[in-house]
Amino acid sequence: MPRIMYVEDDPSASLLVHRILAAEGYEVMEVDDGLAAIELARRAHPDLILMDINLPGIDGYAISTKLKSLPETRHIPIVALTANVIEGDRDRALAAGCDGYIPKPVDVDTFPHEIAAFLSGKREQIAETALLEKLEEHTRRLVNRLEATITELRNANAELRRIDKVKSDFIVLASHELRTPLTMIYGYTHLLRAEITALNLSPDINLMVEKLGTAAERLSRVVDDIVNVSLIDADQLDLEFVPLDLGALVHSIVEEYQSAIYERQQILQVEPMDHLPRIQADQKYLRRAIANVLSNAIKYTPDHGLIKIECVQTGEALDLMVQDSGIGINPDERDRIFEKFYVLENTDFHSSSPSRFRGGGMGLGLSVVRGVVEAHGGQVWVESEGYDEVRCPGSTFHLVLPIQPPLPEDLKRHDECEM
Ligand code: ADP
Repeated sequence: MPRIMYVEDDPSASLLVHRILAAEGYEVMEVDDGLAAIELARRAHPDLILMDINLPGIDGYAISTKLKSLPETRHIPIVALTANVIEGDRDRALAAGCDGYIPKPVDVDTFPHEIAAFLSGKREQIAETALLEKLEEHTRRLVNRLEATITELRNANAELRRIDKVKSDFIVLASHELRTPLTMIYGYTHLLRAEITALNLSPDINLMVEKLGTAAERLSRVVDDIVNVSLIDADQLDLEFVPLDLGALVHSIVEEYQSAIYERQQILQVEPMDHLPRIQADQKYLRRAIANVLSNAIKYTPDHGLIKIECVQTGEALDLMVQDSGIGINPDERDRIFEKFYVLENTDFHSSSPSRFRGGGMGLGLSVVRGVVEAHGGQVWVESEGYDEVRCPGSTFHLVLPIQPPLPEDLKRHDECEM
């Protein structure tokens, strides 16, 4: 039996037409939106399309024109259905690409015969002069609609930008507000530690203070990442370039993560880096970037896995590689993971621990890494065969950093290339 695609946004209007067609034994596919109709027609190749003209968004005239321009759908007869018939509707529909026209409400007695006729090849004709006039009118309507849509999009875009700015301002303010009490907690925890050692208090109190210290550290890291992302967004990272021994920096970061690696019983292999030249870099920010990559390597690698850090000189830059034997990353996610707030893992795994297996955070770590490395005039990317939590193909993150600091105009040129 022939298949009919029925494009109608009003469910009450579609009921009668649907019943009549189904009673005749036709298979009816209903769709209530213009773009979805184009998609379905391309996929399902119906034998006939019944098109309500007054659809919200893209209207039935425009959809018909589009369908008649596609090689895979141009042969399908389109019959327009219109309520509130106004003078010239029929010619307007035919000029837009429809093959026939039936006014609404449909006549229960004649409707099935009309459908059968269109299925057997009936095509309504339009006079040459009317065609030219209606085509011109149709084009004008399309251009007007396009203009209105562009204006709407522009306004929506401006509104989104405004909301995004409000959000960013709020994040920065909230983070600054958090920083002050955090510094106090941090400072007093250090003092307490010293007191406990001096007074020889019970190990329990010692442990409590240790935990307090770790929590404060973790919290300040999160706040730092939020502030850093905001600064990167606003292009306001204030880097202080000094000659830096990358090997020494890596070793001191590894030191920081030693207990997490021990807890996860992972093996960390750091290749010698003494032979490498010093680079001009900002120690504080680069430390954060490398630490974020190492922390991810620990988190996304199972217990007993291997993490390897090595660095080679490639021309005028150093390529720092952090390789893990973890769950890996799918090819289509490799760029997106560097976007802020992008979290691949199921949020059920979310964890505030810096080491828990697959314990994703806020999705800010890699965006800070990219911002910091690019502010140094470098590049960051990841290589991975794909995601597989059983086979664990691993990932290798590359942080390529120029040995000399970038000239400001080079950074500007780099930004422009990105756009
Ligand atoms: P998060 O704080 O959630 O870890 P990141 O920006 O650091 O955020 O990472 C973004 C996403 O990239 C993570 O949610 C994770 O899915 C993926 N990812 C990052 N590093 C690795 C890695 N070494 N192996 C596998 N997936 C990773």
